[in-house]
Amino acid sequence: MTGTTPHTHTQPDEAAAGAILTIDLGAIRENYRRLKARLDGVACAGVVKADGYGLGAVEVANALRKEGCDTFFVAHLWEGIVLRDALGAAPTIFVLHGFLPGSEAQGEAAALTPVVNSTAQLVAWRDLAHRLGKKLPAAIQIDSGMSRIGMAPVEVEALAADPSGFDGIELKLVMSHLACADEPEHGANEAERLEFDRLRKMLPPAPLSFANSSGIFLGKPYHHDLARPGAALYGINPTPGHGNPMQPVVKLEAKVIQTRQIDAGAGVGYGHTFHASGPLRTATIALGYADGWHRRTSAAAFFEGIKLPFIGRVSMDSIILDISALPAGRLREGDLVELIGPSHPLDTVADVAGTIGYEVLTSLGHRFHRRYIGG
Ligand SMILES: *Cc1c(COP(=O)(O)O)cnc(C)c1O
Repeated sequence: MTGTTPHTHTQPDEAAAGAILTIDLGAIRENYRRLKARLDGVACAGVVKADGYGLGAVEVANALRKEGCDTFFVAHLWEGIVLRDALGAAPTIFVLHGFLPGSEAQGEAAALTPVVNSTAQLVAWRDLAHRLGKKLPAAIQIDSGMSRIGMAPVEVEALAADPSGFDGIELKLVMSHLACADEPEHGANEAERLEFDRLRKMLPPAPLSFANSSGIFLGKPYHHDLARPGAALYGINPTPGHGNPMQPVVKLEAKVIQTRQIDAGAGVGYGHTFHASGPLRTATIALGYADGWHRRTSAAAFFEGIKLPFIGRVSMDSIILDISALPAGRLREGDLVELIGPSHPLDTVADVAGTIGYEVLTSLGHRFHRRYIGG
C-alpha cells in the first residue's frame, strides 16, 4: 500500500506518517448487528457526531448503510451538512443540537432534521415552514432528568396546551437521553424512563427514541422505537465493569524513530522526571500529545505482546519507551509498536488516562495514516 495514497494535509501516506490508525469497518458492522440482535426488531440509528467519534463519520456511515442503517445523528449543523453532502439524499440525518437562531434555512437546504430542544427553536422552525409554504420535519427532545438539553417539563406542558404548536411541523421523533445508562443499578434510569413516558404522552403520537449504547443493555423497556448507539459501535464497552460485548474497532500503532542505550543515572525526557537506575535500552516513538495522547498519561506500548513502559514525560511528537524487556536488536527503526489494540484495549487505555474511551477516540489527532479495513 505504501505510496499509493496521495499526501493531503489530513491524511499522510503510510511511509510519511509517524503513526498508523487502523479502523475496522467490518467490526463496526458486526457491532451494529450485535446491537440489532439485542434490540429484537426495534430500529437502530448510528450516532456519528464528532466525525464518527474521531474515526470518520462518512466512512462509518457508509459502512452502517451496508447493514441497512438509514438514520444518523450528528451534534452540530455543520456535521450534518458535511454528512448530507457525502451520503446523498436518502438517509435521515438528525442534528442533536437543533438549529441555532439564524441557521434554520441552512439546515433546511441540506434536508436535515433538527432535534428541537426548546420552544424558541420550534417557533423559528414553524416560521420557516410557514414562509416556505411546506411542512418541515422535526424531532422533539424532552429533558427527562439530565438537565443538559431539551424541553423542560413546563415547556412540554405549554406546548401540549397550544393548539397551533405543531403547525407546519411533521413530528418524526420524540426523544430523550439517559444520564446514567452505564450504571444499570442507578435509580435515575427508571425515573427518567417514567418521566419520558409521562411527558411524551402530552405530545402528538410519534416514534420514540431513548436508548444510547448503554441504554440498549438496560433491556426492552428502554428500547422504544429507535435506539441511538454511538460508543458501542466503535468498540467502547457499553457495560462498564462487565466483559465487553462489542468487537474492538481501533488499532493505533506508532513507529520507532530511534533506539538507544542509556547509562545508569541518565536523565530521560523534559524535566528529567525519570533517571535510569541502571543501564537501559530505550526506543523513541513518533507519537505524542499533539496526536491526542494526553501528556499526563503515563502508560505503556506493546510489541508482540511485550509491555514497554513509557519513561519520562510525553513530548509533543514523541514518547520514550523502556525496551529492556526485549532482546537487543529486536526492535528497530521503523518498526511499529501498539498503543491501542489487542494487547492494550481502548477501555484500558482510557482507565489508565483517568478518562473514558469516548474521550480517547475523539482526542485522536490528524497526523496518522488512517487505514480502513473490512469495509
Ligand atoms: C452522544 C449521544 C448518543 C450516543 O451515545 P453513546 O453513549 O455514545 O451510545 C445518543 N443520544 C444523544 C442525545 C447523544 O448526545
